[in-house]
Amino acid sequence: MADTKNLKQLNTIGRYFRQKFGESVYKVPISISGFTCPNIDGTVARGGCTFCENDSFSPNLVKNKDRFKLHPTSQSNPYLELQIQQLKLQFNATKNKLAKKFGAKKFVVYFQSFTNTYAPLETLKALYGEALLLDDVVGLSIGTRSDCVNDEILSYLQELSLQTNPNSKLNNEIWVEYGIQSIYDETLEAINRGHDFANIKKWIERTKEYGLLVCGHVIFGLPNETPEMMLKTIEESIKLNIDSIKIHPLYVTNNTLLALEYKNGDFEPISEEKYIDLIVESIKIIPNNISIQRLTAGIDNDSLIAPLWCKNKHLQLKNIKKSLKKINICY
Ligand code: SF4
Repeated sequence: MADTKNLKQLNTIGRYFRQKFGESVYKVPISISGFTCPNIDGTVARGGCTFCENDSFSPNLVKNKDRFKLHPTSQSNPYLELQIQQLKLQFNATKNKLAKKFGAKKFVVYFQSFTNTYAPLETLKALYGEALLLDDVVGLSIGTRSDCVNDEILSYLQELSLQTNPNSKLNNEIWVEYGIQSIYDETLEAINRGHDFANIKKWIERTKEYGLLVCGHVIFGLPNETPEMMLKTIEESIKLNIDSIKIHPLYVTNNTLLALEYKNGDFEPISEEKYIDLIVESIKIIPNNISIQRLTAGIDNDSLIAPLWCKNKHLQLKNIKKSLKKINICY
């Protein structure tokens, strides 16, 4: 086995942050009530992506289905103050934990759950603005769908990205995270994604024109996809000029349409061996200027139905590291 010192270091997001900011920067995931997704609320589709656990399938969430939900055309947002409070509470709780555990001093607020640009622009401005005022925050990362951005939103994010951040003395670090998942329209249709690849391509390219940082999410093991198709998705994602990538295996959880498909024998999850082989092949072709944000995913509770190797993310990571080491790469 290769000596660790001689291994080529993968450009992970951690290394990217350390190089840019001179120290570690930690993403703090935030989930704001009231946000939903056009693929769930009926604007594009109902039910959401087949793997997404949401109101349509979750009995616990259904109880709350009359809760206030934002829509880009909502005339007012009576819960904005509460949402801001929620943002501050969640941020401070996680920040304190990270500070205690790792001595963390710099943070990026990660708007993670649902579609975080799917709200009136005034709401987005208020939330993003507040997030950038939080102590020790150097930027934002905004998870969304390519059919939920427009020039107004991107232009506002560009404005933010050109402002100097008092905590880093650099410009605000503004990322937009898009679910690419697959470049194949038949796959996007099979998972009820609600938009095609042309839409993804158009809005990622547009986001880059605004000078924003883009992270693309890709899933391996989507229905009916061959290894060649998965690697083609990586190749085409690279061509979109993304700055970072997250890859993860598709796993089945309770209360999803995918769970029904799996139980009916219509969906076969990817094996760990095949997944890791594909990760190794992907790493070989992803250029070093694209940082790697994630190569694993899973859930360690009873909601996981299959594949069971997705229960233990630490083991996944260990096995991935081992395989990458064989090609002289240190993750
Ligand atoms: S886009 Fe995201 S939030 Fe919307 S249905 Fe799909 S996985 Fe769920």
